[in-house]
Amino acid sequence: MKGEADKRFPVIVVGGGVAGLTAALDLARAGRPVHLIEKSAVLGGQVTRLDKLYPTDHCAFCPVWTQARLCLGHPLITVHTHSCIEDVTQGKEMGKKQEQGLIQIIICRDLNRIDPGRCILCGRCEKVCPENAVSPTICHALPRTFLVDINACTGCGKCVAVCPTHAIDLERKQDRIKILAENIIWATGFAESEVSVLPELGYGSHPNIMTSLAFEALLSESGPGRGHVLTPGGKVPRRIAFVQCAGARDQRKFAYCSAVCCMHALKQARWVKQRDPGMDCVIFFTDMRTEGRHYYNYYRQAVQEYSIVLVRSRPGLICPLPSGDGLAVRYENTRTGQVKTERFDLVVLNGALEPCQKADKGSAPLPLTDDDGFIGKPSNPALACGFCRAPADVEVSVVQASSAAMGAYMGKGINGKD
Ligand code: SF4
Ligand code: SF4
Repeated sequence: MKGEADKRFPVIVVGGGVAGLTAALDLARAGRPVHLIEKSAVLGGQVTRLDKLYPTDHCAFCPVWTQARLCLGHPLITVHTHSCIEDVTQGKEMGKKQEQGLIQIIICRDLNRIDPGRCILCGRCEKVCPENAVSPTICHALPRTFLVDINACTGCGKCVAVCPTHAIDLERKQDRIKILAENIIWATGFAESEVSVLPELGYGSHPNIMTSLAFEALLSESGPGRGHVLTPGGKVPRRIAFVQCAGARDQRKFAYCSAVCCMHALKQARWVKQRDPGMDCVIFFTDMRTEGRHYYNYYRQAVQEYSIVLVRSRPGLICPLPSGDGLAVRYENTRTGQVKTERFDLVVLNGALEPCQKADKGSAPLPLTDDDGFIGKPSNPALACGFCRAPADVEVSVVQASSAAMGAYMGKGINGKD
């Protein structure tokens, strides 16, 4: 059916991460027009911040980049970056008879001053800007373009004068478009929660206490160490602590489990050991949640083949040593009852993840969410996939995305049947 434009109204997919890209492509391949709405400048979402995916340890970027490229090139998919949903009006609230049963969506596009459809990436604008206000998106980002930092731009117009394709319009601001759609799929993903609100974790007191996504960037092949394990100060760490459930399964912050952190910590610790088997990796965990055969084997290998140490504990204090030479982690091993303080060079906090719609408080009209901000309430007919529905990793998000696409194709969801 590919390429046969469906005569029906489009489906809106909100979120250009791995779940949204999958849902959009599935629908388009089934002949359904799609509007894909992404709030940032590029597609790919949080997966673009990962270097590797568990349990294969394959490159995280390649599959998501391929999906993004296919979406951008598909004739039935219209991609709106820098955009968000401003209003959703459901069928029965709309006036005209022919529009009943449809959803009216207002999309607010916070337009980049540079039109990616015209920009040929020549880089002249960047060279002439006296304020360094123009920069390219990262080299594999899609859509690839240049961006103007409006806070740094003085409006001198030098970039406009040199642009050979008239891609730059400094007056371009926001616009709004109205779309009548048959259905809407929410795939808005997750945001990292703030860990500094838990003072016992010591976040912010030393650069070597970092979040797991910051550690991923540090470790990555394209990172500052080019794949070598280094501290932010460029030293080789000998002992690394991974602290699980930093804010998750904690009544003070998030009562739920984020579902991805145990496997994510095992992946990072294995990766450290692959590069330098002499480094000590200790994971402080609440429960090691590695469901299913492949994930469990991944965990077993981590312990048996990579000698990663697992300690059942939630550290009560993490702080820089007075000597300045490392970090102290004080904890109770809840299996043995022993209380200890150990020295580490790096501490990686696996903080709780929260659904984007909760983190972005009130930035978009949303379907019903539960008390934790997830859309996956059983009584809620809205179609949702990935982390915005319930805590889920990439594998689960992709399956849910295909399921949501099928639901939209069959007319289920916000305006249809359960
Ligand atoms: S208008 Fe001037 S300051 Fe602004 S981006 Fe262009 S060259 Fe830079
Ligand atoms: S000068 Fe124009 S075409 Fe060249 S990179 Fe800048 S915006 Fe793109």
